[in-house]
Amino acid sequence: MEKLLKEILENNKKYCDNGEVAHYIPALASQDKRSLGISLVDLKSNKIFNQGDTDKFFTLQSISKIFTLILALQDKGAEYVFSKVGMEPTGDPFNSIIKLETINPSKPLNPMINAGAIAISSMIKGESNQHKIERVIDFFEPILGRRLSVNQKVFESERNTGHRNRATAYFLKDVGILSGEVEEILDFYFMHCSLDVTCKDIAYLGGFLANQGKTINTEEQLVSQSITQIAKSFMVTCGMYNSSGEFAIKVGIPAKSGVGGGVMAVSPNHYGIGIWGPALDEKGNSIAGVKMLEDLSTKLDLSIF
Ligand code: GLU
Repeated sequence: MEKLLKEILENNKKYCDNGEVAHYIPALASQDKRSLGISLVDLKSNKIFNQGDTDKFFTLQSISKIFTLILALQDKGAEYVFSKVGMEPTGDPFNSIIKLETINPSKPLNPMINAGAIAISSMIKGESNQHKIERVIDFFEPILGRRLSVNQKVFESERNTGHRNRATAYFLKDVGILSGEVEEILDFYFMHCSLDVTCKDIAYLGGFLANQGKTINTEEQLVSQSITQIAKSFMVTCGMYNSSGEFAIKVGIPAKSGVGGGVMAVSPNHYGIGIWGPALDEKGNSIAGVKMLEDLSTKLDLSIF
Protein backbone atom coordinates (compact mmCIF):
# COMPACT_ATOMS: atom_id res chain seq x y z
CA MET A 1 0.00 0.00 0.00
CA GLU A 2 2.85 2.34 0.95
CA LYS A 3 4.37 1.85 -2.51
CA LEU A 4 1.08 2.39 -4.31
CA LEU A 5 0.39 5.65 -2.46
CA LYS A 6 3.92 6.88 -3.20
CA GLU A 7 3.52 6.16 -6.89
CA ILE A 8 0.11 7.86 -7.00
CA LEU A 9 1.45 10.93 -5.20
CA GLU A 10 4.47 11.25 -7.46
CA ASN A 11 2.46 10.79 -10.66
CA ASN A 12 -0.04 13.48 -9.75
CA LYS A 13 2.09 16.13 -8.06
CA LYS A 14 2.40 17.94 -11.40
CA TYR A 15 -1.30 18.82 -11.34
CA CYS A 16 -0.75 21.13 -8.36
CA ASP A 17 0.58 23.68 -10.84
CA ASN A 18 -2.73 23.70 -12.72
CA GLY A 19 -4.75 24.91 -9.73
CA GLU A 20 -4.87 27.89 -7.38
CA VAL A 21 -5.21 28.15 -3.60
CA ALA A 22 -8.47 29.75 -2.38
CA HIS A 23 -8.05 33.51 -2.35
CA TYR A 24 -11.51 34.62 -1.33
CA ILE A 25 -10.62 33.81 2.28
CA PRO A 26 -7.45 35.92 2.65
CA ALA A 27 -5.89 33.66 5.32
CA LEU A 28 -5.99 30.71 2.91
CA ALA A 29 -4.15 32.56 0.14
CA SER A 30 -0.76 32.04 1.79
CA GLN A 31 -0.92 28.23 1.55
CA ASP A 32 1.76 26.55 -0.56
CA LYS A 33 0.06 25.23 -3.66
CA ARG A 34 2.70 22.51 -4.12
CA SER A 35 1.66 20.80 -0.88
CA LEU A 36 0.18 17.37 -1.40
CA GLY A 37 -0.54 14.46 0.91
CA ILE A 38 -2.52 11.26 1.03
CA SER A 39 -3.40 9.07 4.03
CA LEU A 40 -5.33 5.84 4.00
CA VAL A 41 -6.74 4.01 7.01
CA ASP A 42 -7.34 0.31 6.41
CA LEU A 43 -10.23 -1.00 8.52
CA LYS A 44 -9.06 -4.57 8.31
CA SER A 45 -5.60 -4.04 9.78
CA ASN A 46 -6.35 -0.77 11.65
CA LYS A 47 -3.23 0.61 9.99
CA ILE A 48 -2.71 4.04 8.50
CA PHE A 49 -0.51 4.59 5.43
CA ASN A 50 0.81 8.06 4.65
CA GLN A 51 2.64 9.78 1.83
CA GLY A 52 3.59 13.43 1.37
CA ASP A 53 2.35 16.29 3.53
CA THR A 54 0.19 14.33 5.92
CA ASP A 55 1.16 16.09 9.17
CA LYS A 56 0.67 19.70 8.12
CA PHE A 57 -2.33 21.61 9.37
CA PHE A 58 -5.03 23.03 7.16
CA THR A 59 -8.62 24.00 7.89
CA LEU A 60 -11.50 21.57 7.62
CA GLN A 61 -13.77 24.03 5.76
CA SER A 62 -16.70 22.32 4.04
CA ILE A 63 -15.73 18.86 5.27
CA SER A 64 -17.13 20.05 8.62
CA LYS A 65 -20.59 20.22 7.01
CA ILE A 66 -20.85 16.42 7.14
CA PHE A 67 -20.31 16.38 10.88
CA THR A 68 -22.55 19.32 11.74
CA LEU A 69 -25.23 17.56 9.69
CA ILE A 70 -24.69 14.42 11.79
CA LEU A 71 -24.94 16.42 15.02
CA ALA A 72 -28.08 18.23 13.84
CA LEU A 73 -29.69 14.90 12.94
CA GLN A 74 -28.83 13.60 16.41
CA ASP A 75 -29.99 16.81 18.10
CA LYS A 76 -33.18 17.49 16.20
CA GLY A 77 -34.11 14.36 14.23
CA ALA A 78 -34.41 13.91 10.47
CA GLU A 79 -37.97 15.19 10.21
CA TYR A 80 -37.10 18.61 11.60
CA VAL A 81 -33.77 18.89 9.76
CA PHE A 82 -35.32 18.11 6.38
CA SER A 83 -38.25 20.42 6.96
CA LYS A 84 -35.70 23.25 6.75
CA VAL A 85 -33.10 21.89 4.31
CA GLY A 86 -33.67 19.73 1.22
CA MET A 87 -32.01 16.59 -0.12
CA GLU A 88 -31.29 17.50 -3.73
CA PRO A 89 -28.10 18.51 -5.52
CA THR A 90 -28.09 21.99 -7.01
CA GLY A 91 -25.62 21.94 -9.89
CA ASP A 92 -24.65 25.44 -8.72
CA PRO A 93 -21.47 26.61 -6.96
CA PHE A 94 -21.33 26.01 -3.21
CA ASN A 95 -21.87 29.65 -2.32
CA SER A 96 -24.64 30.35 -4.83
CA ILE A 97 -27.72 32.18 -3.63
CA ILE A 98 -29.75 32.01 -6.82
CA LYS A 99 -32.02 29.02 -6.14
CA LEU A 100 -33.01 30.25 -2.69
CA GLU A 101 -35.31 32.76 -4.27
CA THR A 102 -36.69 30.63 -7.04
CA ILE A 103 -37.82 27.68 -4.91
CA ASN A 104 -41.20 28.02 -3.28
CA PRO A 105 -41.34 27.80 -0.27
CA SER A 106 -37.75 28.98 -0.04
CA LYS A 107 -35.35 26.47 1.51
CA PRO A 108 -31.72 25.51 0.84
CA LEU A 109 -31.61 22.52 -1.51
CA ASN A 110 -29.13 20.48 0.57
CA PRO A 111 -26.88 20.66 3.66
CA MET A 112 -23.62 20.70 1.65
CA ILE A 113 -24.05 24.11 0.02
CA ASN A 114 -23.30 27.07 2.24
CA ALA A 115 -26.96 28.08 2.60
CA GLY A 116 -27.88 24.60 3.83
CA ALA A 117 -24.85 24.32 6.08
CA ILE A 118 -25.60 27.68 7.71
CA ALA A 119 -29.17 26.51 8.38
CA ILE A 120 -27.77 23.26 9.83
CA SER A 121 -25.39 25.27 12.04
CA SER A 122 -28.39 27.01 13.59
CA MET A 123 -29.76 23.64 14.73
CA ILE A 124 -26.82 22.50 16.85
CA LYS A 125 -27.70 22.53 20.54
CA GLY A 126 -25.61 24.55 22.97
CA GLU A 127 -25.90 27.52 25.26
CA SER A 128 -23.26 29.57 23.46
CA ASN A 129 -21.02 29.28 20.43
CA GLN A 130 -18.22 28.17 22.73
CA HIS A 131 -20.42 25.37 24.03
CA LYS A 132 -21.45 24.39 20.48
CA ILE A 133 -17.90 24.24 19.14
CA GLU A 134 -16.85 22.25 22.23
CA ARG A 135 -19.56 19.75 21.34
CA VAL A 136 -18.16 19.46 17.81
CA ILE A 137 -14.63 19.01 19.21
CA ASP A 138 -15.95 16.45 21.76
CA PHE A 139 -17.54 14.54 18.90
CA PHE A 140 -14.24 14.29 17.03
CA GLU A 141 -12.13 13.35 20.07
CA PRO A 142 -12.83 9.58 20.27
CA ILE A 143 -12.40 9.27 16.50
CA LEU A 144 -9.11 11.17 16.31
CA GLY A 145 -7.69 10.57 19.75
CA ARG A 146 -7.01 14.28 20.14
CA ARG A 147 -8.86 17.56 20.50
CA LEU A 148 -9.06 19.84 17.48
CA SER A 149 -8.82 23.59 17.82
CA VAL A 150 -10.10 26.56 15.86
CA ASN A 151 -7.53 28.37 13.72
CA GLN A 152 -8.17 31.91 14.93
CA LYS A 153 -6.50 33.54 11.95
CA VAL A 154 -8.69 31.72 9.44
CA PHE A 155 -11.78 32.23 11.61
CA GLU A 156 -11.26 35.97 11.77
CA SER A 157 -10.39 36.15 8.09
CA GLU A 158 -13.66 34.43 7.16
CA ARG A 159 -15.63 36.48 9.61
CA ASN A 160 -14.26 39.73 8.21
CA THR A 161 -14.72 38.85 4.55
CA GLY A 162 -17.65 36.39 4.47
CA HIS A 163 -20.03 38.88 2.89
CA ARG A 164 -21.71 36.33 0.65
CA ASN A 165 -22.33 33.97 3.56
CA ARG A 166 -23.68 36.92 5.50
CA ALA A 167 -26.05 37.80 2.63
CA THR A 168 -27.16 34.16 2.44
CA ALA A 169 -27.79 33.97 6.18
CA TYR A 170 -29.84 37.18 6.28
CA PHE A 171 -31.89 35.91 3.36
CA LEU A 172 -32.52 32.67 5.26
CA LYS A 173 -33.56 34.68 8.30
CA ASP A 174 -35.98 36.69 6.19
CA VAL A 175 -37.72 33.58 4.83
CA GLY A 176 -37.97 31.94 8.26
CA ILE A 177 -35.37 29.17 7.80
CA LEU A 178 -33.01 30.59 10.42
CA SER A 179 -34.24 31.20 13.91
CA GLY A 180 -31.82 32.89 16.26
CA GLU A 181 -29.31 35.66 15.91
CA VAL A 182 -27.76 35.68 12.42
CA GLU A 183 -24.28 36.93 13.41
CA GLU A 184 -24.07 34.31 16.19
CA ILE A 185 -25.01 31.53 13.78
CA LEU A 186 -22.47 32.75 11.23
CA ASP A 187 -19.73 32.88 13.86
CA PHE A 188 -20.38 29.25 14.76
CA TYR A 189 -20.39 28.31 11.06
CA PHE A 190 -17.03 30.07 10.55
CA MET A 191 -15.65 28.35 13.67
CA HIS A 192 -16.37 24.80 12.54
CA CYS A 193 -15.02 25.59 9.06
CA SER A 194 -11.82 26.87 10.72
CA LEU A 195 -10.94 23.75 12.72
CA ASP A 196 -7.32 22.78 12.10
CA VAL A 197 -6.81 19.21 10.88
CA THR A 198 -4.20 17.09 9.11
CA CYS A 199 -4.54 14.68 6.24
CA LYS A 200 -4.29 11.82 8.75
CA ASP A 201 -7.22 13.25 10.70
CA ILE A 202 -9.50 13.29 7.70
CA ALA A 203 -8.48 9.74 6.79
CA TYR A 204 -9.62 8.69 10.29
CA LEU A 205 -12.86 10.65 9.90
CA GLY A 206 -13.46 8.91 6.56
CA GLY A 207 -12.60 5.59 8.22
CA PHE A 208 -15.21 6.26 10.89
CA LEU A 209 -17.86 6.71 8.18
CA ALA A 210 -16.53 3.68 6.29
CA ASN A 211 -16.96 1.75 9.56
CA GLN A 212 -20.69 2.71 9.65
CA GLY A 213 -20.37 5.21 12.49
CA LYS A 214 -18.17 3.11 14.77
CA THR A 215 -14.77 4.18 16.04
CA ILE A 216 -12.07 2.13 14.38
CA ASN A 217 -10.14 1.08 17.46
CA THR A 218 -12.88 0.50 20.01
CA GLU A 219 -15.81 -0.24 17.66
CA GLU A 220 -17.97 2.15 19.68
CA GLN A 221 -21.13 3.08 17.75
CA LEU A 222 -21.09 6.89 18.04
CA VAL A 223 -23.52 7.55 15.21
CA SER A 224 -26.38 5.31 14.12
CA GLN A 225 -26.06 3.46 10.87
CA SER A 226 -29.05 5.30 9.40
CA ILE A 227 -27.52 8.74 10.08
CA THR A 228 -24.18 7.55 8.69
CA GLN A 229 -26.01 6.47 5.54
CA ILE A 230 -27.62 9.89 5.16
CA ALA A 231 -24.21 11.57 5.48
CA LYS A 232 -22.61 9.29 2.87
CA SER A 233 -25.53 9.71 0.48
CA PHE A 234 -25.03 13.48 0.54
CA MET A 235 -21.32 12.93 -0.05
CA VAL A 236 -22.14 11.01 -3.23
CA THR A 237 -24.75 13.44 -4.56
CA CYS A 238 -23.29 16.79 -3.45
CA GLY A 239 -19.95 16.25 -1.68
CA MET A 240 -17.69 17.45 -4.48
CA TYR A 241 -19.57 20.66 -5.21
CA ASN A 242 -20.93 20.90 -8.74
CA SER A 243 -18.45 18.23 -9.89
CA SER A 244 -20.18 15.52 -7.88
CA GLY A 245 -21.60 13.79 -10.97
CA GLU A 246 -18.25 13.63 -12.74
CA PHE A 247 -16.56 12.49 -9.53
CA ALA A 248 -19.14 9.68 -9.11
CA ILE A 249 -18.34 8.46 -12.62
CA LYS A 250 -14.57 8.76 -12.38
CA VAL A 251 -13.99 7.79 -8.73
CA GLY A 252 -17.28 6.35 -7.53
CA ILE A 253 -17.02 6.66 -3.74
CA PRO A 254 -18.57 9.05 -1.19
CA ALA A 255 -16.31 12.08 -0.68
CA LYS A 256 -16.43 15.60 0.68
CA SER A 257 -14.04 18.37 -0.17
CA GLY A 258 -13.29 21.75 1.35
CA VAL A 259 -11.70 24.92 0.02
CA GLY A 260 -8.75 24.40 2.38
CA GLY A 261 -7.72 21.65 -0.06
CA GLY A 262 -8.89 18.68 1.98
CA VAL A 263 -10.89 15.77 0.61
CA MET A 264 -12.32 13.09 2.89
CA ALA A 265 -13.22 9.94 0.98
CA VAL A 266 -14.88 6.73 2.10
CA SER A 267 -14.60 3.25 0.71
CA PRO A 268 -17.45 1.64 2.71
CA ASN A 269 -16.28 -1.17 5.02
CA HIS A 270 -12.72 -0.90 3.68
CA TYR A 271 -10.87 2.42 3.85
CA GLY A 272 -10.95 5.98 5.04
CA ILE A 273 -8.95 8.26 2.77
CA GLY A 274 -7.62 11.72 3.55
CA ILE A 275 -6.23 14.02 0.89
CA TRP A 276 -4.70 17.44 1.17
CA GLY A 277 -3.71 19.55 -1.79
CA PRO A 278 -4.64 23.23 -1.52
CA ALA A 279 -4.32 23.97 -5.25
CA LEU A 280 -8.00 23.93 -6.30
CA ASP A 281 -9.79 23.60 -9.62
CA GLU A 282 -12.41 26.16 -10.66
CA LYS A 283 -15.17 24.31 -8.75
CA GLY A 284 -13.22 24.37 -5.47
CA ASN A 285 -11.88 20.79 -5.37
CA SER A 286 -8.23 19.85 -4.81
CA ILE A 287 -6.99 19.45 -8.37
CA ALA A 288 -4.22 16.91 -7.72
CA GLY A 289 -6.30 15.36 -4.93
CA VAL A 290 -9.09 14.38 -7.30
CA LYS A 291 -6.54 12.94 -9.74
CA MET A 292 -5.01 10.88 -6.93
CA LEU A 293 -8.44 9.54 -5.98
CA GLU A 294 -9.13 8.60 -9.60
CA ASP A 295 -5.91 6.58 -9.70
CA LEU A 296 -6.50 5.02 -6.30
CA SER A 297 -10.04 4.00 -7.24
CA THR A 298 -8.86 2.42 -10.48
CA LYS A 299 -5.99 0.53 -8.84
CA LEU A 300 -8.00 -0.76 -5.88
CA ASP A 301 -11.30 -1.09 -7.76
CA LEU A 302 -13.12 1.12 -5.26
CA SER A 303 -16.18 2.33 -7.17
CA ILE A 304 -19.37 1.44 -5.31
CA PHE A 305 -21.40 1.50 -8.51
N1 GLU B 1 -15.98 28.41 5.06
C1 GLU B 1 -16.08 28.29 3.63
C2 GLU B 1 -17.14 29.23 3.10
O1 GLU B 1 -18.14 29.37 3.70
C3 GLU B 1 -16.41 26.89 3.29
C4 GLU B 1 -16.43 26.68 1.82
C5 GLU B 1 -15.99 25.33 1.38
O2 GLU B 1 -15.07 24.73 1.88
O3 GLU B 1 -16.65 24.87 0.44
O4 GLU B 1 -17.01 29.86 2.10
